[in-house]
Amino acid sequence: MQELTHYIGGEHVKGTSGRFADVYNPATGEVQAKVPLASTDEIAKAVEIAAKAQPAWAATNPQRRARVMMAFVGLLNRDMDKLAEALSREHGKTLPDAKGDVQRGLEVVEYCIGAPELLKGEYTDSAGPGIDMYSMKQPLGVTAGITPFNFPAMIPMWMFAPALACGNAFILKPSERDPSVPLMLAELMEEAGLPKGVLQVVNGDKEAVDALLHHPVIQSIGFVGSTPIAEYIYGTGCANGKRVQCFGGAKNHMIIMPDADMDQAADALIGAGYGAAGERCMAISVAVPVGDETADRLIEKLVPRIEKLKVGPYTAGNDVDYGPVVTAAAKQNILGLIQSGVDQGAKLVVDGRDFSLQGYEDGFFVGPHLFDHVTPDMDIYKKEIFGPVLSTVRAGSYEEAISLAMDHEYGNGTAIFTRDGDAARDFANRINIGMVGINVPIPVPLAYHTFGGWKKSVFGDLNQHGPDAFKFYTRTKTVTSRWPSGIKEGGEFNFKAMD
Ligand code: NAD
Repeated sequence: MQELTHYIGGEHVKGTSGRFADVYNPATGEVQAKVPLASTDEIAKAVEIAAKAQPAWAATNPQRRARVMMAFVGLLNRDMDKLAEALSREHGKTLPDAKGDVQRGLEVVEYCIGAPELLKGEYTDSAGPGIDMYSMKQPLGVTAGITPFNFPAMIPMWMFAPALACGNAFILKPSERDPSVPLMLAELMEEAGLPKGVLQVVNGDKEAVDALLHHPVIQSIGFVGSTPIAEYIYGTGCANGKRVQCFGGAKNHMIIMPDADMDQAADALIGAGYGAAGERCMAISVAVPVGDETADRLIEKLVPRIEKLKVGPYTAGNDVDYGPVVTAAAKQNILGLIQSGVDQGAKLVVDGRDFSLQGYEDGFFVGPHLFDHVTPDMDIYKKEIFGPVLSTVRAGSYEEAISLAMDHEYGNGTAIFTRDGDAARDFANRINIGMVGINVPIPVPLAYHTFGGWKKSVFGDLNQHGPDAFKFYTRTKTVTSRWPSGIKEGGEFNFKAMD
């Protein structure tokens, strides 16, 4: 059995706590490795190393730091296949999707190459007589991030690339379910020229997270994961005086207006609802057709597309649309929610419950499901399912549709499909959700914009990546300077009376 490590001080280090978690191959259901779960002492050791390494890194000029990012981009491209394979093997997503996971992280690294420009401060010449004023953006020091299982390459890079580009040290606590790619990324950063100890990976569970939350040297915590944990980390981190940003769960609605191109809307829903087995915080999990006629037309288009979906292991390459979910527990949770939908009166139009794949009977596969006539009081509407399950809630009008999305506790992403510019514009203006797609089902902003939801999908003030990341990972210092007049006034030859 492979025993994974931590990456501390530039070395692969065995765990010393004696505690481990199983890492599965979700396609076969086998345990393929065990990952060490760090103790408070192991976290303290990493923090000590980070604190020693950070000042020299901060003193390295931003252009040199950017060159490390540049070299890292080259290495990510060199090792793309290797990274994708390791990612799919532990997560279960298809290989093209795994490459997308790396690519979307890589794009944020590319953005961070602009650090010298992004870190330029502000300057006011002659703010008063002989007085200049300037603001500097300085690194925080030792920073940390806690990431979820569903994007084990992208989300760590969204955090550590800007943190490092700003001159911080960073300690990553990745998901214990798929820790191999984060370890590989740390190695690659060092190969790219990052000094040892500036980026470390410490694997673990709640004990490691609590150690980070309570360590006085850690200046900031970034978190991405489920809402209850986000809320806990935000509250605890803030109470301990840290800068904290937490991104939580989602329930993303897509509104389909009667005038929408129904083929386009159905295709969009297939990719957004079932891609990555629905394990995306930007997945569409609720379709809201406006009017019964629209709903009937939509369902008619969706059913054959869903029935054609190919579900299988990542080793099948491009021949599968989505793979297994991450663990047996995740599968049980999804099946339990599907049962609750049936029990609470929703109509299960496509039933994937008896899905099984020859040769992979122990894998964590879940067939695709489509519900119609879902109502807001049902658990499948209220809760994040995080599986290949699309719920249809029929709305009587546009106003009812927009109200549904607005009244839901989550506010990560949403979309509207329509040919009516006025409806689209009204929707984009009024909706209380952070990321909006107009005829775009998964509106994930690119690296140079920022990513973040509203309501219970976020705790904190600044978004991920883009200019916000450079604000989150720096603090502003403003200097007011006045130099006494010097020799330039010339020598003095006469005694002056003191008055
Ligand atoms: P999770 O909340 O179970 O775990 C996230 C991280 O928190 C992991 O590193 C885990 O080890 C740690 N953790 C788990 N329990 C903890 C506890 N009790 N105390 C302290 N730390 C704990 O989430 P997940 O299952 O890995 O990821 C799926 C969730 O993440 C979904 O809810 C999804 O919507 C959300 N997500 C959100 C975004 C976003 O940007 N809003 C992006 C991706 C995923």
